[in-house]
Amino acid sequence: MKAIGVSPGKPGVKLIEKSEPARAKGEIKLEPLLVGICGTDREIISGYYGEAPPGEEFLTIGHESLCKVVEGQSNELKEGDLVVPTVRRSCGVCWSCLHGQSDMCFTGNFKERGIKGMDGYNTERVVELPEYIARVPDGLGDVAVLTEPMTIGEKAVYQCLELQKRVEWGWDCKEGLKCKKALVLGTGPVGLLASLILRLKGFKVVAADRHDDSTRKASILNAAGIAHLNTSNTSIDEFAGSEGKFDIIIEATGDAVVGLDAIPSLSPNGIIALTGIPGGSQVYQMPAVQIMRSIVLNNLITVGIVNANISYFKMALQHMLEIESKFPGLLERLISSKFAVEEYSAAFSARGADVVKVVIDWRR
Ligand code: BGC
Repeated sequence: MKAIGVSPGKPGVKLIEKSEPARAKGEIKLEPLLVGICGTDREIISGYYGEAPPGEEFLTIGHESLCKVVEGQSNELKEGDLVVPTVRRSCGVCWSCLHGQSDMCFTGNFKERGIKGMDGYNTERVVELPEYIARVPDGLGDVAVLTEPMTIGEKAVYQCLELQKRVEWGWDCKEGLKCKKALVLGTGPVGLLASLILRLKGFKVVAADRHDDSTRKASILNAAGIAHLNTSNTSIDEFAGSEGKFDIIIEATGDAVVGLDAIPSLSPNGIIALTGIPGGSQVYQMPAVQIMRSIVLNNLITVGIVNANISYFKMALQHMLEIESKFPGLLERLISSKFAVEEYSAAFSARGADVVKVVIDWRR
């Protein structure tokens, strides 16, 4: 069967042949329909990241997918169902992995589909255990390919709200106090989807990038009542100085300086969730005293967010239904282009202010 593969450590990506995986007892066979491309995939094809399955030269790339069940069943799944499989697989020994939280693995010996030691979804068939597969609710179709990037926003928002249980009234709005203000740094799919989740949770949201209001991303934000900030004109610092600071900041840029610099723009008792995984070796003169003083004097929390377990996939799918009913057609606009398998090269190199989520369409 066809697969889109990389030889980890070497730049490049190509169409390869892999043998179809056999389905063991209890496993479900899936047909990938749509597979999204993200920054991690681009790092892998540049040769900076990724690991092939043990003993193999090639890694089948792709960890964001929408699939169809073609063989096998479980209590929740049957043939023909649309599903989204998760990314990370248990290390087999740590308490987190053994209890359904491989996203919080202690050993680091987990595998990740399409990324680390396990083939991904850019292929014709995969087999998977039901515990790693979320069923797509009726009413959602192609947009469910956005589930995986949305899970990062789900985990970030959920963990911020859980962490804030340390304050008796959390961020509830009390008369006379400003409340529930969030800033999202970055308007890629993770940033846009995190902004939408925060809107559903009743936050007043500002999403920042370096572009003016004419982009597809800005119009998506506008349609959902989310303010757009162009940081080429106004810095986060200046904006927070004039409009007030933020209870939650979600960083979704992958830029270490942008993330760390935003910390002093948090309100007292605020939380910043960092989700980007910076590459390179940027060295930066930090206003270290200002950052540490604001963390300590304001009870701030900085939390790192990586990967997501199945519970966040189920949350994301439910929130997508809510978004579809509040803002019909909005999620579809996040899928900026679909490429056929043979056009994979163009798909991986698509760039620009109007490129949001690029997907490879295995049905074409
Ligand atoms: C994926 C995560 C993964 C992380 C690190 C991200 O792009 O969304 O599932 O854990 O990369 O490999």
